[in-house]
Parts: sequence; C-alpha cells; structure tokens
Amino acid sequence: MHQFDFLVLGSGIAGLSFALKVAPHGRVAIITKKNSAESNTNYAQGGIAAVTSKEDSVEMHVRDTLEAGAGLCREAVVRTIVQEGPARIAELIELGMKFTEREVPGPNGLREFDLGKEGGHSKRRILHARDMTGREVERALLAAAAARPCIRFFENHLAIDLITRQKVGGTGPNRCLGVYVLDKASGQVETFAAPVIVLATGGCGKVYLYTTNPDIATGDGVAMAYRAGAAVANMEFVQFHPTCLYHPKAKSFLVSEAVRGEGAVLKSENGVEFMDAVHPRKSLAPRDIVARAIDYEMKKSGADYVLLDITHKPARFIIERFPNIYQTCLQYGIDITKEPIPVVPAAHYQCGGVRTTVDGETDVPGLYAIGEVACTGLHGANRLASNSLLEAVVCAHRAAQRALASELPPVEQKVPDWQSGSAHHPDEMVVVSHNWDEIRRCMWDYVGIVRTNKRLQRARTRIANLQQEIQAYYWDFIVTSDLLELRNIALVAELIVTSALQRPESRGLNYNLDYAKPDPAWAQRDTVLHKPA
Ligand SMILES: Cc1cc2nc3c(=O)[nH]c(=O)nc-3n(C[C@H](O)[C@H](O)[C@H](O)COP(=O)(O)OP(=O)(O)OC[C@H]3O[C@@H](n4cnc5c(N)ncnc54)[C@H](O)[C@@H]3O)c2cc1C
Repeated sequence: MHQFDFLVLGSGIAGLSFALKVAPHGRVAIITKKNSAESNTNYAQGGIAAVTSKEDSVEMHVRDTLEAGAGLCREAVVRTIVQEGPARIAELIELGMKFTEREVPGPNGLREFDLGKEGGHSKRRILHARDMTGREVERALLAAAAARPCIRFFENHLAIDLITRQKVGGTGPNRCLGVYVLDKASGQVETFAAPVIVLATGGCGKVYLYTTNPDIATGDGVAMAYRAGAAVANMEFVQFHPTCLYHPKAKSFLVSEAVRGEGAVLKSENGVEFMDAVHPRKSLAPRDIVARAIDYEMKKSGADYVLLDITHKPARFIIERFPNIYQTCLQYGIDITKEPIPVVPAAHYQCGGVRTTVDGETDVPGLYAIGEVACTGLHGANRLASNSLLEAVVCAHRAAQRALASELPPVEQKVPDWQSGSAHHPDEMVVVSHNWDEIRRCMWDYVGIVRTNKRLQRARTRIANLQQEIQAYYWDFIVTSDLLELRNIALVAELIVTSALQRPESRGLNYNLDYAKPDPAWAQRDTVLHKPA
C-alpha cells in the first residue's frame, strides 16, 4: 500500500496548483491516467478571465458571470472567485507562466497584457498565451512541480474508486481513506491511502459523440464521488461549444471563442450572417445562445456545418494572434486568412459536478473536489467563457488552505486491498467498444443542445439497459481502463439524464422544448443527486 499526506487525482491546472500549494507541508502523490500534461487544461486556447485592467472592475466581471449563469450562480461564490483571480494570476506569473503582452501605444515603449475578449464579457479581460494558453499553464506548473522532491507523479495510473470508511465497514463517522488505482502498465490494482484526497479529474465531454475534450474526459471523478456517497449537482448543464472545426479527419479541434472576440462572424453555409437577428451581441452572444442558433440554422437548412469568417482581418494579425488555429486548419486544407472555417457545436464543459463549497469541500470528510469536476456555484446554468481556468486556480488555492487547516485526525483504519475475486480476462472486448459508441450516440441524439421529455425518457431507458450489461461485465472480468471508463461514462450519462428530467424548465444550457421558459420557482435551485442507500 502507498501512503501519502495528500493524494491528488489529476494533473491539470487544478491538481497541479493544489499539489504545489501543499508540497511544503507533506508528501504528495499525483495520480494521473495518461502522461502528466494530458488534460483538458492542455488544450485550452482562449485564456483565463481575470480583472487586471483599469477599464475593468470586479463588479463588471461578477455581473457578466451572473448574467451568463442565467439566475443559477451563487453570487457569494462568484464574488470570491472573481476577487481572488488577480492574486492567483500573479502567482502563476511568478511560477514562470508567460502571458502574451503588447506594447502600450505611445512613446514610452511600455508593455501590458494583451487582453482578449470572449462571448458574454463586457470588457477585454482574458489573459492568454497566444492561442495555446493551456499548454503554457501545463508547462509552467509541471516545471514547478518537477522541482519539488516531495511531489511524486504516478503516470498511466487510473483511479478506479474511492475508499471510504463506510464502504470498508469501519466504525466512526464516514470519511475518505484512499483510492484504488489501476497501474495501466502492469494491470495491477494498487491501494493508495492519505488523510486528504483531492479529485481534480476534469470533465466528461467523452459522454457525447462529438466533443472538444481529449480522451481523458470521461467523468471519472463525478462517477467515483457519486459511488462514494458525495452529492452531485446540476449535471444537466453541459456546455456545447459553438465552434468546433468540421472536418472528417479533425478529431475534436476547437476554434476558440477568442476568434469571434477579434471580429469573426458566423454565417450560414451560403454566406448569410444569422446572429444579428438572434442577440444584440450577435456572434459574441453567450455560448448557449450561439450553440442553439447554430443547431437551429443547421436543422433548418439541412447543412452539416456553418461558417466562421475572419477573412476581413489582416492575414498577419490572424497568423500572429492564432498561430495554432491557423496552422491546424491549414493542415486540413483551410487557409483561415482567405476562407471561412466550417464549424459545428460539440460538448465542451461540465458546469455541474461534485457539489462543493468554494473551498473544495465535498460531503465526504477528507474528500475535496476542484476544477471542472466540482460544482461550486460559479457557473450556474451556463459558464462564462474562460472562467473555468480561473475557478480551478482559485479553488485549488482555497482547498489547499482548508486542507492544511483541517483538524481531521490521521487515518488509523486499515485500508483493505482490492479484491479481484474470480474475475478472469475478458473474451469479447467488442461489448465494451459497442457500448461506448451506443452511449455516446444516444447522449448526442437525445440529450444534446435541444431536449424534450420524450427524448430524455428514451435515453433513460437505453442507458439503464446498457448499465445492467456493463455492471454484469464489470463483476465477471479483470478491469481494464476501457471498461472502467465505460462504467463511468454510463453512470455520468445517467446522472445528466436524471438531472435534466428533474428540472421542469428551460434555463441556460438546459433547453427543453416542453418548457418554453425559465420557471422563477427554480431560480437558485440546484438539481442534487445522491446515490440511493
Ligand atoms: C479544447 C478546450 C479549450 C478550452 N479553452 C478554455 C479557455 O480558453 N479558458 C478556460 O477557462 N477554459 C477552457 N477550457 C476548459 C478548461 O480547459 C478546463 O475546464 C480546465 O482545464 C479543467 O482543469 P482541471 O484541472 O479541472 O481538469 P483537466 O485539465 O481536465 O485535468 C484532469 C486530469 O485528471 C486526470 N484524470 C481524469 N480521470 C482520472 C482517473 N480516473 N485517474 C487518474 N487521473 C485521472 C486526467 O488525466 C488529467 O490529468 C477548454 C477546454 C477544452 C477541452
């Protein structure tokens, strides 16, 4: 058994930021299921929203966040996170993070942050590293973590399930004791124990057929926390990014909202601008509105995509500001300085998650959740662009302070090892791959951007059947990462569908044709799910 003072599951911005904060106080294990950099963080393009300019204010950032959140944000949480953003940005810079700067117009040659603008923001406030912000975040945080000998990385280790006192039949109040982890190289399940366990496992885009997320985003943290008895909230609010590159060979490549922030315009396949009639902010309206407008436009015309046009901007500006997007599109034969980009919406961000305080505490003592896996109340019914990296870095800091101040006694309970029983090697992996595809297509077709009760009920029945089959398979066979992730996407799919069925209104990202509008009785009301006892 491995014993540490802090167990961190995940090596994106949330997990690494937490690990760096607690590293001076004890031994830290970072368990991560692929290589350390592979995370949603690594693919973030647009940047981090924070108030750093004189023309901006905390009040304005709070207002924009609340407006995008469609009446469901917790204002106190929004205020705390927005207020603490600038201090956390300063720390990232101290750690070596390089944000893009520009020369201040005038004779002095001074430099300032080149602040970007994205949908729903009333001011330029997005700090970015050209269009590869996430890669720069990972680079800086991983370099800092590598310099701390008390942080140990376990790459290619996939956390299977949390170990709680309740689960192992211990006495005394429930708490989290550790985690079972599959070492993907050896195929062995190892036991890790610590008094503080942090879920920083990111989101669940892979629950949907089309997503901007990389393969790691299978909702493992939400599934593990739910199975361990923690509350999960607001899972119906899945954000679909309006502009994912449409190309048969491009696997989930995002075209950042910052491109629209710099003037790109959405057009129908035959070149007509369609956002003017939809929202006063046109192509820069909040994401839910843009994604629905594109969905409507595609359904109306039967087109496979719409167009995003930035060709009216100087080619040099486009290439310098968006080098990654320019190069990637060029690789697929699209020169974005000369022709519009074909785009479609795709599942992008999980606004709900494991219910936590702003300090990352869950219902299970000793278990924290931070970053995309958590539901703090910041995003409400719709995340404001670039607020997620902000939330992750602020809540990681707060969770670290809280964990260090915690008076939870050391774990004395013996943590039992994993029992594989009479499980044997699977003989037909086709069951796993078939069920993967079926769940993801079912969620795309029935639980997507526009929902109805009938579609949701249909999805519920299908997913329940698949879960029965997966469960039987799970107990009979030796675990593999594909099977474990399949079990998690099935559970997360169930939680999304159940939450959507429980909310009898259209609000933010939960758009249901059976309910025309938001119901004031449901404002400030979260959809909270617990595992039945
Ligand atoms: C293409 C794209 C662009 C984006 N652009 C922006 C942007 O510009 N601004 C913004 O604010 N947000 C953006 N987002 C969202 C943002 O990147 C994420 O919300 C944020 O990075 C999440 O950070 P995290 O640390 O919570 O999780 P992640 O960065 O996703 O890290 C999760 C970690 O957990 C590990 N993990 C998962 N499950 C397990 C398991 N069972 N066992 C062990 N390890 C596990 C993963 O391997 C990974 O290391 C973007 C997202 C995508 C996909």
